[in-house]
Amino acid sequence: MLSVADHAAAVAALVPQVPAEVVPLAEATGRVLVADLRSPLDLPPFDNSAMDGYAVRASDLGSGSTELAVSQDIPAGRLDIGPLLPGSAARIMTGAPMPAGADAVVQVEFTDAGTERVLIDTGTMTIEPGRHVRPRGSDVAAGTVVLGAGIVLTPPRIGLIAALGVDRVSVVGRPRVLVLSTGDELVSPGKPLQDGQIYESNAAMLVSALEEIGAVAIAGHVVADDVAEFQRLIAGAAADADLIVTSGGVSAGAYEVVKDALTGHGVDFVKVAMQPGMPQGLGRVAVGERSVPIVCFPGNPVSTFVSFEVFLRPAILAALGRSDLDRVVRHLPLQSPLTSVLGKRQYRRAVVDPQSGTVAPHGGPSSHLLGWLAGADSLLVIEEDVTELPAGAPVQVWTLS
Ligand code: AMP
Ligand code: MG
Repeated sequence: MLSVADHAAAVAALVPQVPAEVVPLAEATGRVLVADLRSPLDLPPFDNSAMDGYAVRASDLGSGSTELAVSQDIPAGRLDIGPLLPGSAARIMTGAPMPAGADAVVQVEFTDAGTERVLIDTGTMTIEPGRHVRPRGSDVAAGTVVLGAGIVLTPPRIGLIAALGVDRVSVVGRPRVLVLSTGDELVSPGKPLQDGQIYESNAAMLVSALEEIGAVAIAGHVVADDVAEFQRLIAGAAADADLIVTSGGVSAGAYEVVKDALTGHGVDFVKVAMQPGMPQGLGRVAVGERSVPIVCFPGNPVSTFVSFEVFLRPAILAALGRSDLDRVVRHLPLQSPLTSVLGKRQYRRAVVDPQSGTVAPHGGPSSHLLGWLAGADSLLVIEEDVTELPAGAPVQVWTLS
């Protein structure tokens, strides 16, 4: 049996990086920059007012109250402003350019808000030069690297890029992943179900998981347990895929369509020392002239999910240029005792109690318990050599949400 780490390394080596692309800023959320972004501008681009009020020379104001002529009016966006006439004030709004010669802004609350003349009374406070002025370049200096290669574009970073006047960014490409489900018993949601059939759920779950981390999922096809049909579907649907993920048909029974179709055709079927998720496949399949990487998961929904979490999620995040490959990991005390299987790394579904800071298994270890999986917020990881853990023992917890 392979260790989890060895199989994870093999999957990571298989998942390809795809070419970078240039995307409009509106489509760049969550993407990863491929190159350092240098600011073409100072931010702010010009000295401007931080307040609605009056731009003045600080030296024109004595203590107590001062009356000044209002020599111009400067709303934000005004382009044709002149210098501040000596001994006068300019009515100015937040974000408007400071007139040459002015060095401070008195906020409107300290004035009578006049438009011809203004009475300024700041009480005992003296107005120092620079007050309520946002100097050019005080946020970002032109020419500096504002966002480094490899950074993930979050909303504030998208906002910054827009503020620099840049409308397209070069980002790491997203692998296109074809999702295939196998099983004669599977019926797509929305269609009628006969006795003995179940609704197909792995494709929906994998497509959602892939999209959530930023890969492009090519809609989940459902294939019967028929080797010829499976091979035909791969030849057609995988034409523009960078990676194929299958679920089902890799175990030890009969009618294991994925195993039957791909054994001896570039795919290895292995056993990994884990529960759930022991039977796994990986390799490359010929699709026309290309050879496309393929990862094959067992079909029980919890096995599929755990396989994705342990193997594919970090591998795809790495291909997407991300450095945060792992879930947030904590070690929390168990609320109740649990047992595990010797020689296998067990992944149990769990819920963390934020009040007590403890964690409790959620549902049993069986890998068909999708309802319980959906109610869990964490996975517990129990090492291969551990068979029993008492209440209170610290256990490794992966935060799923
Ligand atoms: P298999 O790995 O094909 O032997 O399937 C193991 C179990 O998972 C069986 O109970 C299947 O019915 C179930 N299963 C397999 N594929 C899916 C799927 N795509 N959606 C829901 N259940 C599935
Ligand atoms: Mg099956």
